[in-house]
Amino acid sequence: MAIQDTRPFQTLLRQQRTTLLGQLATLRGGASSRAEASAAHYAGREDSTASVASERELEFALDARETSELAAIDAALQRIATGTYGECTDCGTEIPAARLHAAPEAPRCVHCQEAAEKT
Ligand SMILES: [Zn+2]
Repeated sequence: MAIQDTRPFQTLLRQQRTTLLGQLATLRGGASSRAEASAAHYAGREDSTASVASERELEFALDARETSELAAIDAALQRIATGTYGECTDCGTEIPAARLHAAPEAPRCVHCQEAAEKT
């Protein structure tokens, strides 16, 4: 059975989404300016490629994490729109409200989430 009153969760998800978009914008703005700064700093040095590459890998890793969180939030908002919010996407069990308050983007019940993380 899906959650009947999804409004509090919708509010939470929208807030998280706004925060994440802001973080991504900062991250992407910071990534390009820092990469330029590194390129200028290392210009002419033989190890420049390796140093800049590892810094960029870190930026991309952070970016990927924020992006996947954003995808989870969008998916949760989609489930609210289709009326299936609060149901585990794997087994269909109702996800406890306490879990949704802690992690409104959670797509699975604790049991299925643990199973998904093991694979
Ligand atoms: Zn489940």
